Parts: sequence; C-alpha cells; structure tokens
Amino acid sequence: MPAPTPQRLDELREIRELNRIAWDSQHTDPAQSIALATRCIARAQLASDPSGLAYALLNKAYHEYYFSTKEQSEQTLIDTEARFRALGDRRGLLLARSGLGGILMRRHEFDAARSVLESVINDPPEASEPLDAYYALYRLGYLHFNCGDVQAGLRYYYKALALVQRERSLPLTCQMLSDIGSAQMELGNFTEAKALLEQAFVISRTTPVFFIHMILGNLANVHLEMGNADAALRLLESNAIESGPFYREGDRAFLMAVKAQTYASLSRWDEAESQAHAALDQARQDDYAEVNSHCLWQLGAIACGKGQFDVGIGWLLEAEASFGAEQNIFYVLHVYKALADAYASSAQYQTAFNYLKRYHQQYEKSLGASAKAQFFTLQIQHELTQVQFERDYALQQQINLETLNNELRHKVTEIESLQTALREQAMRDPLTGLYNRRILGEQLGTLLNLARRSDFAVSLVLLDMDHFKQINDMHGHGVGDQVLVELSRLIHQRIRDSDLAVRYGGEEICLVFPSTTAEHAYAKTQLLLDLFRQTGVQVGDKSISNLTFSAGIAQFPRDGTYSEALLQMADKALYRAKAAGRNRIILAS
Ligand code: GH3
Ligand code: MG
Ligand code: MG
Repeated sequence: MPAPTPQRLDELREIRELNRIAWDSQHTDPAQSIALATRCIARAQLASDPSGLAYALLNKAYHEYYFSTKEQSEQTLIDTEARFRALGDRRGLLLARSGLGGILMRRHEFDAARSVLESVINDPPEASEPLDAYYALYRLGYLHFNCGDVQAGLRYYYKALALVQRERSLPLTCQMLSDIGSAQMELGNFTEAKALLEQAFVISRTTPVFFIHMILGNLANVHLEMGNADAALRLLESNAIESGPFYREGDRAFLMAVKAQTYASLSRWDEAESQAHAALDQARQDDYAEVNSHCLWQLGAIACGKGQFDVGIGWLLEAEASFGAEQNIFYVLHVYKALADAYASSAQYQTAFNYLKRYHQQYEKSLGASAKAQFFTLQIQHELTQVQFERDYALQQQINLETLNNELRHKVTEIESLQTALREQAMRDPLTGLYNRRILGEQLGTLLNLARRSDFAVSLVLLDMDHFKQINDMHGHGVGDQVLVELSRLIHQRIRDSDLAVRYGGEEICLVFPSTTAEHAYAKTQLLLDLFRQTGVQVGDKSISNLTFSAGIAQFPRDGTYSEALLQMADKALYRAKAAGRNRIILAS
C-alpha cells in the first residue's frame, strides 16, 4: 500500500479533531455536536476513514440517546459497535456498549443492562480516557436506583461524581449533581437535594447545559417541598423557560408544570391553570409519562383550590391512572394526599379515608427509604472523603445509629459547604466578588471558539478608574476599596448572567459581552459610566462624588481573533481614552 499523502493525513486528523469537539460539546451545545457529527460522517465516508466514521456515528448515537427515540439511538449504536469490533477499537467499543447498556435499561431489560455496563467498568481498555467510565457508572447508578437498590444506586452515582470532579469536567459534574439531587428529592431528602441542585445551578450559570430546565424544575420543586413558594417563584421568574434545538421539550414541559405548581402554591389560580394546561399539551405530545402525571395532579389541585372539587377529583383520578409500572413515589404520595383532601372536602368521607390510608402506607415506605438513603449517602460520601475512621470509632463506642447519623450528616454538610466556599473562592476576587483573571483565561478562549464556529460577535471592554491613586491618597486605602466595591456592585446589577465581569488588575476591570457588537457594548459601558458618576461613596459624613473611569472596547472578530489580540486592542483604546482626558470610552480601530 502506498504511504498516505500529507493531504490525506491532514484530512484524517481534521476528522478526528472535529469528532473530539463534537464529543466534548454533547452536553454544552448539542446542536453543534450533532451538526459536527453529521459533517464528520459525510467527510469520513468520502475519505474512506472507517475509524472517523465509527466515532462520528458514536457521537450521533449519544445525541440521539438524549434527543431522539431509543429505537433510533439503539440502531445507530448497534451499527457503531459492529464497526468498532471490526476495527478492534476497544475504547470505541466501551463507549458504544455504555450507550447500549443505557438503551437496555430504558427498555426495562435490567439484568442485561447491568451485565453490559458492569463488564464495561470491570474491563477498561488501556486506550480509554479517564472520563470514559462515566457513561457506564452513572447509568449503573440510575439502573440500581430505579430497581429499588438505593444503596448501590447512590454508590455508583457518587463514584461517578467523584470521577467527574477529579477530572474537572464542569458539564458532567453539573449533570451528576443534578441527577443525584433529583434522586435525593425523590427519596424525600430535601436538604441534600437542595444543596446538590444549587451547586448544579451555579455551574450551569457559567457552563451552558442542555438539561438546565431539569435543574431549575427540580430546584424549584425542592423549594416548594420545603414550603418556600416565594423562592421557587423568584427562581422561575428570573430564569426564562427557553425553547430551541438546545433543549428537550419534555424538560420544558416539566419546568412549566413546576411553574404551575408554584402559582398554585401562591393561590394564583388563573396563571397556574393556563401554565398547567400548556405543560400538559407539551407532555402529551412528547409522551413524557412523569410530567403527564405531574400536570394532571396540578390541574386537580388547582380545581380543588378554586373549590371545584368534582372537576379536581376527575383530574386527580386521571393522574392516578397515569402512574405506569415505574411509579415515582413522589407523585404517588402527592396525588393520594390530594385525593384524600378532595374527597373529604366533598363529604365523601369513606373514600377520603381509603386514600388517606393508602397515602400513609406509601408515606411509611418512603420514610423508610428516605432514612436509609440518607444513611447510605453519608456512608458513601465518607468513604470518598476518607473520614471512615470517625465512623468506626463511633461504632465501637456503640453510639446509637440516630446520633451517629446526625453527626455524620453534620460533618458532610460542613465538608460540602467548605468545598462550595473553596470553589467560589478559587473563582472570585474576594473584595469585589468579580471573577478573577484565571477564569477570564479559561472562559474567553472557549467563548471565542464558540463565537468562531457559531459566527457571533463578542465585545471586550477594559476599564480603568480615573485618578484612583488620588482617592487612595486623600481618603485612605479603605475608601479606595469601597469605591471598587461600589463599581463592581453597579456592574453586577447591570450585566446579564451570560456576560463575564473580571477583576483584571488593581482597579482595572474587564467585561466580556457575548453576542454583542462593540457599538452595543459602548452603549452599555456608557450607561455604567453615567451611573458611576452619579453614585456617591459615603466617607464618614461626606460623600465622594463625580467618580469616573475610562474604557477601551475591542470586538471579535473585527479587532482581533484571539484573546491576547483583543485584550491588546482594548488596552490601546483605553490608553487613548486616558490620553484624551479620561472619563470616556473609545472603540478600538
Ligand atoms: P489613571 O488611571 O487615571 O491614569 O490614574 P490612576 O491614579 O488610577 O493611576 P494608576 O492606574 O497608575 O494607579 C492605580 C492605583 O490603584 C495604584 C494602586 O495603589 C491602586 N490600587 C490598586 N489596587 C487597589 C485596591 O485593591 N484597593 C485600593 N484601595 N487601591 C488599589
Ligand atoms: Mg491602572
Ligand atoms: Mg487608574
């Protein structure tokens, strides 16, 4: 066989690279991921590149796993597996099998699923990458959890979480936190669920993930369960329910159902009702069984709330009939309770009593599961955080399980909040709460790559306070700090979640506006400057006013196509703004 030409080698390398980008953006940009996979399929076929083709098909299959039917995804996976087997590519085989294990699970062939997934984990090929095991681990978690082995399920879940945290994969960490959070909620462990979901939510603010609606819905749900409908509403109202190829319609329906429930909790019946109907339409379209139950339950609860008990009972009975083989205890409990209340309110006491009895039976069962799960969770986390010693010691001391449990829970919460605090500290500047320069380095490159592929503008603003040294000299360093904090507060108030505000240097701040032209960024920065000038900082009984800054703005790709070039252009513009007399903003040119 003749040696491959340089062009051919380039082509193969490029296909491999595109496949890798598609794989890495599965969770953060599924639309791009599938577009790239489709392109790779065509190019690999044209270039007769069997390996590139197999990996492209693998990408397609994983996309279909989340966004199409299981039949579609299964077909692609079987094809892919055969290709990897023919190629003797063990890494590809592992990933294809992890997907097939998931399909078997979704078809309720649990034993077969387990043996496929366990074989993947127990026999990892040498060429595999650390994160490869994730796809089998979290599916094993889901599998055991839904087959009733809560302990094994949580063990796998937390193992998967430890893996993705160790490998610093933000989207996968987010997915795991979200899944474990929702599992803990189903078990009735709301405090744990809330902590996990809040962490997932924080990550999703900087790393877009396609399952954001699940995170929001579950987090709002936890607020509702903990009796905090206001918090749920705040969360839902400040985060729009978006649609588009990035999102799964079923997840949107779920979020709408939770929103309906939130309105109902606040007795805002009309909004609740229209939201619940919209959610139900969506859920029916997608054949999304649990969301369907959720909507029917809400419509029942809303009718009862409005005093229409007959109508309410009708919906609730429909909800009861909608429970499939996989009964989600969470909905079962709520529907039984609502039915008991509704029958009691319409004076059908015998039926009410029967539902109350069933509710209590289920409740006892779920309490047992919840307590056990709480204990398992702690145990597992401790194995992972290596404080087993304390537990053994306590066991030796024959302390009863209850006290032990409490102590352990306390420690884990402590460790968790410490971890959260550390993570935050590592990202933010302690004085101003702005992101630090390391985060700029990490995020700007990624953002520009995305902008390049998706063809949108990014504006970068460098701003520097005017005559800041004078403020320090006249009023002291503490007042200087106060001024910095004040400007940062203004910025936090005025920018969007998707924008980035970074403390770039001492009194220099860098703002990054995605999907924004320089002219638009200019207007935003001008507004900040006007507001800053009007803001006085109180020092004792006098107030320092007329504070200003100067700024330079550069736009991707017009003024530069990579981070350093843009920063340099913005810096030059800033320098010109200073030279021209300060208190102004200048666009790079
Ligand atoms: P201009 O930028 O308008 O040319 O004048 P300036 O006075 O702001 O000049 P320069 O950028 O050289 O000085 C910045 C000063 O900011 C110097 C430094 O002492 C002060 N500074 C840097 N970081 C902090 C901080 O965290 N707190 C306080 N209070 N001052 C800081
Ligand atoms: Mg400076
Ligand atoms: Mg300055």
